Amino acid sequence: MTEEPVANLLTFDTEEWYHANYDGLDPAALRGRGSNFPAQADALLALCAAAGAKATFFVLGAVAEDHPGVVRAIAAAGHEIASHGYGHALAYRQTPAEFTADVAKAKTILEDVTGAAVRGYRAPSWSIVAANYHYLAALEELGFVYDASIFPVRTFLYGIPDAPTSIHHPVVDGRTLALWEVPTSVVSLVGRNFGYSGGFYFRFFPGLFIEYAIKRANRRGEPAVVYLHPRELDPGERRLALPAKEAFIHYHGLGGTKAKLAALLDKFRFTSVIDHLKTLDPTIGK
Ligand SMILES: [Zn+2]
Repeated sequence: MTEEPVANLLTFDTEEWYHANYDGLDPAALRGRGSNFPAQADALLALCAAAGAKATFFVLGAVAEDHPGVVRAIAAAGHEIASHGYGHALAYRQTPAEFTADVAKAKTILEDVTGAAVRGYRAPSWSIVAANYHYLAALEELGFVYDASIFPVRTFLYGIPDAPTSIHHPVVDGRTLALWEVPTSVVSLVGRNFGYSGGFYFRFFPGLFIEYAIKRANRRGEPAVVYLHPRELDPGERRLALPAKEAFIHYHGLGGTKAKLAALLDKFRFTSVIDHLKTLDPTIGK
């Protein structure tokens, strides 16, 4: 008897070419300076449809304001619309009140656009870290079912290197939340966690290595969490003027991303975060 293969989780942080968190960059100042986003969304929907894959789109409130019809089309194609906050501010640079206001504002905008409940949240640039870990409790209070903001790695911008690497209920101030945490995938090599399944890591590592790491997760019975940005599949999109290191992180390997993703969608099953959580807790959405 063969078992049903593990469904992996396909996620898109749905933002514009100027939504990045580097010092001296103000995304709000670049709003309205042109956008390929509608065409990028069409391309992602076509890729998913061709593979029979469902995805979670973590959409910025500001993007939903600028392109409500595109967001509705994504939802109408059967994908999950979740929240990426309003304007891509780093959560750990917000006070608790600013964080709550930002997340509540984006949730309201997205729910008004789609007419459906928003159940998931992912902070810009994985900005739930040890210092603001308790912000997870605020997400539960705002009615979210899950958070997907934690990256169990150490980098200059983000990461909780010793965070649990499997889907779990986080403990905040001694209390186990009903909120699920869906951390982004890491692969452990020589005693250290490395990202592999999205963004720079996805563009940097060879496709065969990414496949190996996904299979390793699936053999443990766990889904891999793949994350990409619409701009990463569109080498012709406008670019930010960045210093060399940041430009490498932001733009390295763009030309190969779409083919790499198509190959993965061909080899592995993918679904949305909420559909996977429903297999763990059938009462979700009831
Ligand atoms: Zn983002």
